[in-house]
Amino acid sequence: MRVDVDVAIVGSGFAGSLTALALLRRGKRVAIIERGRHPRFVIGESSTPLANLLLEELADTYDLPQLRVFSKWGTWQRSRPDVAGGLKRGFTFFFHRPGEAFADDESHARQLMVAASPHDEIGDTHWYRPDFDQNLVREAEAAGAIYLDETSIDHVDLSTRPSLSGTRNGKAIRINASFVVDASGPRGFLARALNLPAPPLRWLPPTQGIYTHFENVARWDAGGPLQDVGRPSKGRHPYPPDDAALHHIFPGGWIWVLRFNNGITSAGAALTTPVASGFLPPLRFGETRRSLGEGGSRTSLWDAVLDTLPSVRDQFKDARVVAPWVHSPQLAFRTTQVAGPNWALLPSAAGVIDPLLSTGFPLTLLGIYRLLKILEAGPIDGALREYERVTLAELDATEMLVAALYNSMSDVAVFKRLTLLYFAAASFSEAARRLNRPELAPGFLLHAHPVFGPALHACCAIALASPQGRARDELITMIDAAIEPFDIAGLRDRSRRDWYPALAEDLIASASKLHATPGAIDTLLERCGFTDEGPDRSGAARSTAR
Ligand SMILES: Cc1cc2nc3c(=O)[nH]c(=O)nc-3n(C[C@H](O)[C@H](O)[C@H](O)COP(=O)(O)OP(=O)(O)OC[C@H]3O[C@@H](n4cnc5c(N)ncnc54)[C@H](O)[C@@H]3O)c2cc1C
Repeated sequence: MRVDVDVAIVGSGFAGSLTALALLRRGKRVAIIERGRHPRFVIGESSTPLANLLLEELADTYDLPQLRVFSKWGTWQRSRPDVAGGLKRGFTFFFHRPGEAFADDESHARQLMVAASPHDEIGDTHWYRPDFDQNLVREAEAAGAIYLDETSIDHVDLSTRPSLSGTRNGKAIRINASFVVDASGPRGFLARALNLPAPPLRWLPPTQGIYTHFENVARWDAGGPLQDVGRPSKGRHPYPPDDAALHHIFPGGWIWVLRFNNGITSAGAALTTPVASGFLPPLRFGETRRSLGEGGSRTSLWDAVLDTLPSVRDQFKDARVVAPWVHSPQLAFRTTQVAGPNWALLPSAAGVIDPLLSTGFPLTLLGIYRLLKILEAGPIDGALREYERVTLAELDATEMLVAALYNSMSDVAVFKRLTLLYFAAASFSEAARRLNRPELAPGFLLHAHPVFGPALHACCAIALASPQGRARDELITMIDAAIEPFDIAGLRDRSRRDWYPALAEDLIASASKLHATPGAIDTLLERCGFTDEGPDRSGAARSTAR
C-alpha cells in the first residue's frame, strides 16, 4: 500500500487528530499513523482554563465548531453527553503528614483551593481519553484524513521527500509526505527513530509514576476528613473540592484524583525515585521493576504509598481497578532536538515534565498552534528553529517551577506560595488572550515576560536551594512581589485563607493590570458567561463561590 500526503502525523492522541483537523481545513492532505487502535487507555486528562481557551481559539481559527463545545463543561454536557468527561472547577490540594490521618484547622493551613471558574456551566473538564481521543480521530477521518491504525513503522527517511515504511495487517505500507509531525508522545516515534538526545532534566530529580483507572472511589468531600473544616459556619468551599483536580501532597510525592461522569476515576501517584525506592521491597537478582503494581497486590507501590496516608487509603478502600496498572520508572523526559527541515515533534513528544499543575495540554496546544502557522506558511528552516527554541524554553520554565514545588513538598507554606506563581501567570495569560492582548502575556507561565520571567526564575532558584529561616521568609515576600503586578484573582489576600473563588470583582479591580477599563472587563466577563450561570442553574448555584 502506498499513501501520498502533504503531512504525515504519527500518533492519534488528541494532539495528532487536532493537528490533522486543522490542516485538513487548510486543504492539506493528511495521514494519521497509529500503532494501536481506539478506544484505548491513556493518561493525561485534566484540562485548564488556558488549555480550553486554546481549544476555543483553534476551533474558531480553523472553523471547527464541533471541538469548541468541549472547551466548557456546560456546552460539552449538552452537546456531547456520549463522550465521557469530568467537571473541573479548580485545583484542590490537601497536604498530608505520612502516617497520620488528615487534619486541618480553620486557617486551612493544610489545604489550598483555587477556583478556575465561578460556576459549573463554564467549568473546565477532565477528558476521558478513551472516548475523547476516539471521537477526535473519527472527526479527522470524516473530514478526509487517511487514518492508518495498527500500523507499525520500522523505517523513516527524512530526506527531501520524507517517507515512512512499515506494515499494516501484515502488508507492507509506505507513506510519502512533505512533512512529518510526531504526535506520538514522550519517548515516541522520532525520539527513537532518530535517537534524539534526552539528557537528564536540569532541576527536577528523577520521578516515577504509578497510575490506573478505578471505580467506586469515595468523594473526599463526602465527609470524613473534611467534616471538621470548611463547614458552612466556617465559610463555604469555593467549589466542591472533588469537582476539580484533587491533589494529595506529601513529602517527595503526590497523588492525583480526577473523577469522570461515567463512574470512573483516574488516580495515580508521582514520586521522586528516592521516595519511591523507600516504598519498595529490595529487588532480587534478575528482577526488574516492570512488574510493579500488577493486580494491586499489597506489595505494589500504590498500596505502599496509601499505607502511609490513612485518609487517602480510606478514600480508596472500596475502589476497584478497571484499567491496566502503569508503572513509569522515569516519568519526566525532554529531548534537546525538536525539529528538522521537514519534521517536528509536538511539545508532548518533545517532553513531559509532571502531571502537577496540568501543564501538558496547554503546552501541547500552544505548540500545535505555532506549528500550524509554520506549516501554513510553508516550513521554513528559521521558523522551525524558532519553534524548537520556544518549545524547549516552555518546557524548561515548567520544569523549574515543578522542581521547586517538589523540593517544597515538606514545607506547605512555601509550596502553596510557589503555586501562586503558576495561578497568577495562568489567570493573567488567559485574561490577556481573551482581551485580544496576547502580547501582554508572552510565553507559557509568562516566562518570556521581561519582569515576571526573571522573577519566576529567581523564586524557583531560591526554592530549589531549600531556604531556611530568614531566607525562606524572604522567598515568600519575593513571590508576593513577583505576582503583584499580575495578580488578578486576589491571590495575595491572606483573609481568604487559601480558598480562592473566581470572583468578577477581583478581575474588575485589576483592570489596569491588563491595560483595560473596568467596563471592558465587565463586557469580557459577560461574553465569557462568567456572570451567567447557564441553563442548568442548579449545579451552578450549588457551587457558586462564597
Ligand atoms: C502520568 C501523567 C499524567 C498526566 N496528566 C496530565 C494532566 O492531567 N493534564 C495535562 O494537561 N497533561 C497531563 N499529562 C501530559 C499529557 O499526557 C500529554 O500532554 C498528552 O497526553 C499529550 O497527548 P498526545 O496526543 O500528544 O499524546 P498521547 O496521548 O501520548 O498519544 C500518542 C499516540 O501515539 C501513538 N504512538 C506512540 N508511538 C507510536 C509509533 N511509534 N507509531 C505510531 N503511533 C504511535 C500512541 O499509541 C498514542 O495513541 C500527563 C502525563 C503523564 C505522564
